Amino acid sequence: MEEFDVCNICDGSGHFENALEHKRIPSNVRKFKYHKFTVWRCKNCHSLHSKEAVDLATYYNGYPINNNRLGYVIRAGYSNRLKTLRKYGLRENHTILDFGCGNGLFVSFLKEQGYTAFGYDAFVEACADKDVLNRSYDIVVSYDVIEHFFSPLDFLHDLVKCLNKGGTLFLETPDAEKIDLAESEKFSMALHQPFHRHILTKKALLDLGRQVDLKLLKTINRSCMDTLYPIVNVRFLSDYVYQTGGILDTVFEKFNPKVLLKSPLLIFYCFFGYFFPKSTTMVTVFRKDY
Ligand SMILES: [Zn+2]
Repeated sequence: MEEFDVCNICDGSGHFENALEHKRIPSNVRKFKYHKFTVWRCKNCHSLHSKEAVDLATYYNGYPINNNRLGYVIRAGYSNRLKTLRKYGLRENHTILDFGCGNGLFVSFLKEQGYTAFGYDAFVEACADKDVLNRSYDIVVSYDVIEHFFSPLDFLHDLVKCLNKGGTLFLETPDAEKIDLAESEKFSMALHQPFHRHILTKKALLDLGRQVDLKLLKTINRSCMDTLYPIVNVRFLSDYVYQTGGILDTVFEKFNPKVLLKSPLLIFYCFFGYFFPKSTTMVTVFRKDY
């Protein structure tokens, strides 16, 4: 394992020594909250990189996101995701691959809705069967995954290989341009150390898309999990995490209403956060024409 001190997103002249900025950031997973990592911003493409080499298998052991269950919040968010997929091309007879599916919750939801869906996740034993990657699909989705890979371009190649001709790719990922390292504690979800290896800017992501000959259909500057239902919006959830100490695990634990009582703004976001989207999230929709 090597340190990431040279940008692997742009032309390689951006490196840690001439970084625009850098900061030591603690992990936002409870088990590792005393571990700190260096995040630096490339002077050319403004993407963010996690510098130190880490054995990710150690960190993914007991990963809190994999404790997710199909409760009210997730169902409401997934319904909204599905609406976005339908709006940009999903049809009932289509096959879907969720690449980086975690414990496969969204795949289960899609199956419940009558779709033919498959999932793959290298770090979840039940979903790590690589056979699903040897086929191609009408729709490939990848939510908050590309930023976890050591090489975003290689990952994009893998996604494209799984797409049929004319197939559509939905990618959700944080936008590095919207993250302020000076106030990193407010962006602990987007920085998510040490799991997020490279966080792209929108321009960098679109450049990578062009390199693998994908046609851009749409960019959306909010999460597909943003809804008008109370609690189910990223603005509320990320502020709730911030006010409870910046630990991601709290999202997947019993909701603590006492936190709301201390913050009128949080109560407001609980109901109206949809109208104040947390713009660190972007969704891009690409089509493969070949
Ligand atoms: Zn760069």
